[in-house]
Amino acid sequence: MTNIVVVGSLNMDLVIQVPTIPKPGETVLGDNFATFPGGKGANQAVAAARLGASVAMVGQVGADTYGESLINNLSTEGVNIDQIFVDEFSATGVAMISVDASGQNSIVVASGANFTLTNEHIQSAWEKIGDIDILIMPLETPPDTIFESARLANKRDVKIVLNPAPARLLDAELLSLVDVLVPNEHEILQVSEYYDSANTEVEKAARTLIDQGVNAVVTTLGSKGVSIVENSKNEVLLPPFSVDVVDTTAAGDSFVAALAVGLGEGKTLYEASYFANAAGALTVTKLGAQPSLPTRTDVKEFLDHEEEQ
Ligand code: ADP
Repeated sequence: MTNIVVVGSLNMDLVIQVPTIPKPGETVLGDNFATFPGGKGANQAVAAARLGASVAMVGQVGADTYGESLINNLSTEGVNIDQIFVDEFSATGVAMISVDASGQNSIVVASGANFTLTNEHIQSAWEKIGDIDILIMPLETPPDTIFESARLANKRDVKIVLNPAPARLLDAELLSLVDVLVPNEHEILQVSEYYDSANTEVEKAARTLIDQGVNAVVTTLGSKGVSIVENSKNEVLLPPFSVDVVDTTAAGDSFVAALAVGLGEGKTLYEASYFANAAGALTVTKLGAQPSLPTRTDVKEFLDHEEEQ
């Protein structure tokens, strides 16, 4: 079984379905308010566990009911929660999410306890966690904790899958530790500082990141599928699977986790990306973040069905 560690965020998602995403200054009347456990880190941990990996989560919540319920939820999903810290002085992270009828979303995050995670927490967690094959990290904890985790993973020969979300410029020192960078099509342009407003080519942006030291860049292109760029190889494009879109929340999280699980099981980057493309497609067919993350059986049945066509 693949052993995965996720260093990342835990948030409570407050979701409202809206007819259109409100513009600045605009109020729209929505319906169907619901709360869902979320946070990119926790979503990725749950996604990887449902896909059959043994998963430990490193992160932090506040000493409040949202925090308690997020930890209980991860535990119910079979994720190891021993390295989730509780900060008595911060609130648990929350995300306010609007989802429109076409499945597009708009998200505001208050990071709270996610951003008081420190290098001491990371070091203490790494001392206690046993065998690890793959480290997954989004960018919803402080930059220091990302770098420290990457450094410790590198020392132990653990493969690093970095999901640069939300996007920020990444320095070459961090990039050189990363095995696979998994941005979406917006993030890659911000992460690489490559931006050509007339012609925003994902492949060129990916090559600038490879020049800075990352081994491979797998960019998720939403309803357009996936771009895979590896050092010295031509770009490979995977078309999307055709599905009915309900809510795109967590498609990227599902993709990142599935890619990591695939790599941990010895799949090639192409095979792992294909598997992840199916997991991402299944995720957009359901409302919410974690409730929409597919199991191993869901992905297998979906792929069996697709391959019969
Ligand atoms: P993010 O949630 O980070 O913005 P994307 O929207 O790029 O991520 O979606 C991640 C992956 O999920 C895509 O690369 C694809 O595999 C799958 N996916 C997303 N939207 C669709 C869609 N409309 N149809 C099929 N697959 C999709």
